[in-house]
Formats: sequence, C-alpha cells, structure tokens
Amino acid sequence: MSPIHPPLSRRLDGLRSSAIRDLLKLTARPDIIGLAGGLPDEQLMPRDRIALAAESALADRARLQYTESAGWRPLREVLAARESARLGRAVPLEEVFVTHGSQQALSLLAEVLLDPGALVVVEDPAYVGALQVFRAAQARIVAVPLDGEGMRIDALTELLARGERPAVVHTVSNFHNPRGVTLSPARRRELANLAERHGFWVIEDDPYGELWFDRPSPEPVATYSATVIRLSSASKILAPSLRAGWMIAPEDVCRAVELLKQGADLCGSALTQQITAELLADTEWLAAHVDKVRRAYGERAQALVGALRDRLGDRIVSTEAAGGMFVWVDFLDGTDTADLLPRAIDHGVAYVPGSAFAVSGAYTDSMRLCFTTSEAATLHEAVERLACAYWSTQS
Ligand code: PMP
Repeated sequence: MSPIHPPLSRRLDGLRSSAIRDLLKLTARPDIIGLAGGLPDEQLMPRDRIALAAESALADRARLQYTESAGWRPLREVLAARESARLGRAVPLEEVFVTHGSQQALSLLAEVLLDPGALVVVEDPAYVGALQVFRAAQARIVAVPLDGEGMRIDALTELLARGERPAVVHTVSNFHNPRGVTLSPARRRELANLAERHGFWVIEDDPYGELWFDRPSPEPVATYSATVIRLSSASKILAPSLRAGWMIAPEDVCRAVELLKQGADLCGSALTQQITAELLADTEWLAAHVDKVRRAYGERAQALVGALRDRLGDRIVSTEAAGGMFVWVDFLDGTDTADLLPRAIDHGVAYVPGSAFAVSGAYTDSMRLCFTTSEAATLHEAVERLACAYWSTQS
C-alpha cells in the first residue's frame, strides 16, 4: 500500500512561485546577458569595508550571541537618527524595528495588519514580492494603476468612493519596481490624507530612495502621516547578504511585529547588524560610497536608455530612469514580450516580461530591464541582441 501523503495547508492554494525567480534559474547561463534579475552590482558592494567592520564586530564575542528581536540596539539608534533626519521629526527608538531585509517586514506586517479576506490595494504593475506576501495572507487584492507620477490617487479615490475599505495600501514610492516611476509630492500628501480620512495603513516600501541620479527623491510619504509605515533596507546601498532591513512604525505596530518575529526567527543576526550599524554610522564614508554607486548606476541607466532609443526608438516608449535599478519598456506595436523572450534568450539576452508583474492590467507588450548588474558596454551589447531578436520577428 502506498503511504497517504499528508496534506499541506490551504494557505498554499493559489500561491505561485515568483515567475522572476523561475526565469532567473533558466537564464543563469554565462552566455546570456541578464537584465532580468533585480541584482545590485557585487563589484560596487563595499567588501573591504564590510570585512573591516566584521573584524571589529567579532572582537566582541557577544556579537555571536542572540540579540533583541527588535534588532541590535546600536543599529536601531543609527537608524533612528537617519530616519529622524529624513522625516523631519524625532523618531523614538520604540518606532524602529530591524528585520531580515525589508521583505521580512512586509511578511510580518501582513500578519499583523490583515485578517483573511481583508482588502489590500497594490500598484499595477506590482512588486512581486509584495504580491506573494499578500496572497499568502489570503488578502483580497485590488490594483490601482500607475502613471508617470506614480500611483493614480484619483483611481484610489474612486475605489474609496465606491465603498471599498482597504486595510492596507502598498506603494513603492521611489523608482518603482518594476515601473521605474516616483510618486509625486502632491500625490504623497493626498495619499496620506486619504489614509487618515478613511483609516487605512499605507506601507511605504522604499528600498530605492537613496539611489537617485540627478536630484534627491521627494520627502517620504511617512513625513505626512503616522498611518504610514515606512520600510527601507541596506540591500541596495550596501549588500543584500547583510539582510538588514528596517521599519519605522507606531510603537503598537512594532510590538505586534516583535511578537511574530519571535516566532519566525527569534531575532536577526547581531553580527551583520553590527556591520550595518558601523557602515551607516560612518557618515563621511557612506556619503562617498553611495555617491559612487549613484554615479555608476546613473551612467548605466543612461547607457541602457540611450541604446534602446538608438536601436528601437520608434517601436518603444521607456521610462527615463531617474534612479533605482529598472527601466520599464512598452512596445508601441503590441509585441508580446512573453513570446519574444525565448527568441531573446536565443540571442543571448534575458528580461522579465511585463505580464509577470500584472495584477489587473495585462502588460503583455511591456518588459522590465535591470541596468545595475552590467556595465555600460555590456548593456549596449544587450540592447543590440534584444534589437536583433525583435527585428527577426518583423521579417
Ligand atoms: N521591496 C521592494 C520594492 C523590492 O524591490 C525589494 C527587493 N527586490 C524588497 C522590498 C526586498 O528587499 P530586501 O529584503 O533585500 O530589503
């Protein structure tokens, strides 16, 4: 008799593996230029500075010990100082919570803020990691479209006028993943006002805010209301392997997240948290480092957008890439980017089709390109290959 396979929980019904993570497995071949993953450049990660900080952290054996669930206190102090400057108010330590990357903050917040069936408003196209979290929490997900100024607040207002009552509105406020756009200052104020008026939480998911190229990103949405929970991360400015993310939220939310974090992993790593604290506290070094990253990514963004315009100019519209890591491209002739992908891979280049990020829209004629992993010359070659793949469909 074959053994009866014990069941898995119903929460897994309808959960899908991230199409992007699956695609990355397929395109890991060395002959393929990968514009698909959202990977910061390892060459720009401050390995030597991290090694120094690791050495000084290890001088104290206590760094090998468990730490507080809310995070290693000196890191929380550094974060409180940084975020106080960013938000223009004194952020107390009780409102700072360190997580295993900002992805864990999303996942713990979903448990703290959502009952099954609760309404979550996301942006369309959406950050796939947030969709996975909200689906796992069995939320009802409704999407609001984006335009050049970020989330369409008029569409959110309409939704509220129809009587919809979201528990959470999720926004990637700066240099959106995947869409590349930034929420305008006026819309930030409107969003905060709506949150206060209708009593919903806003999760301002902001890992890219410091990666601006020409001018700093606008004031955070959290500047305007205490109903905004602000997430950020060391992944894009230092290194993802530090797994250091943080949340600025009202104290009761932090305490609820703490209860769940105790169950999830007891606490983060005191070792990487001390390294992160040392690097963030060394403000002169940090400013020079982030400046270098900005300059390198800014040049790459320009190279990618320039090459796209040269080779496919009259067939596409692309975002300007004023910061962050991604360019979003729409084909004007309805080219199906999922159909084009195998051909692109044959030509040695990979991207993510827009449909991977779709919630309500289709985005079948769009794609996301990441410009941070490759240098300018490689990006030129990538566009050359993409253009060859595209033109080969036209004959
Ligand atoms: N939010 C957004 C919008 C992201 O793009 C990412 C990373 N791709 C994350 C959160 C999670 O990043 P991390 O956990 O490394 O901080």
